[in-house]
Amino acid sequence: MSKRTAIVTGSTSGIGLGIARALGMAGHNLVINGLGDPAVIEAIRAELAAETGAEVIYDAADMSKPDEIAAMITNTIARFGHVDVLVNNAGIQFVAPIETFPPARWDLIIQINMSAAFHAIQHALADMKSRGFGRIINVASAHALVASPFKSAYVTAKHGIAGLTKTVALEAAEHGVTVNAVCPGYVLTPLVEKQIPEQAAARGISEDAVIRDVLLAAQPTKRFVTVEEVAALTVFLAGDSAGSITGAIIPIDGGWTAH
Ligand code: NAD
Repeated sequence: MSKRTAIVTGSTSGIGLGIARALGMAGHNLVINGLGDPAVIEAIRAELAAETGAEVIYDAADMSKPDEIAAMITNTIARFGHVDVLVNNAGIQFVAPIETFPPARWDLIIQINMSAAFHAIQHALADMKSRGFGRIINVASAHALVASPFKSAYVTAKHGIAGLTKTVALEAAEHGVTVNAVCPGYVLTPLVEKQIPEQAAARGISEDAVIRDVLLAAQPTKRFVTVEEVAALTVFLAGDSAGSITGAIIPIDGGWTAH
């Protein structure tokens, strides 16, 4: 059997990069995506290929642009013949009280964190259904299940992803295509590192206090979830053994949402 092909959006950094690496190690060819310096991205692409033995291509689609998302799927099928695994991971964050939350930030978070998954799924599903196999894994968040103050757009988008996950799971179930959401608690990536000073400003407390009393306060393990843990769960969901897991909203949050 030829290698399966996995697209991982937002895989030039953080969780997405970890997922791409793990899927490559598990025998998938890879389409990586994300923003950043072209030279840095090329170095990431080349390193992933060398490390995993996968064929790795980079697609520069901006996840806020539906036509670029459609082209990414078309280009993947043109290059590899099929798309077997779609990981909707790209995401951004912005933290502010709702009274001062910039409307343009709201729109962008909804586009990248929620609508991008709709567009990617819409274009990839026909190919998956036609071959009777597909794995769609949406990287949601514990914020798909619970809220935190000052994250109105992010929490809304992640709750929306949970609804999208369940709906498409029902539509695709008889065609060998599973659709699930993984819901990490706090993982120490650039996305979280950036919000530490923002949270400190919004709450009027120190950055150490943000880590201790805000980020990890509700995470009973009292440590960050690791990128490798999220990647391993994603690889499992992408595999043949996970064929009966669909429509699931799966916390990987150190017990946060058990409260
Ligand atoms: P990160 O900032 O390290 O990586 C985000 C990735 O998305 C980068 O590759 C970036 O280039 C890409 N991206 C951003 N805007 C884009 C756009 N318009 N088009 C294409 N790519 C774009 O963040 P991360 O922490 O690795 O987050 C990845 C996902 O995990 C996000 O959906 C985030 O909401 C989710 N998540 C993160 C945490 C956490 O604690 N870090 C917890 C739960 C869920």
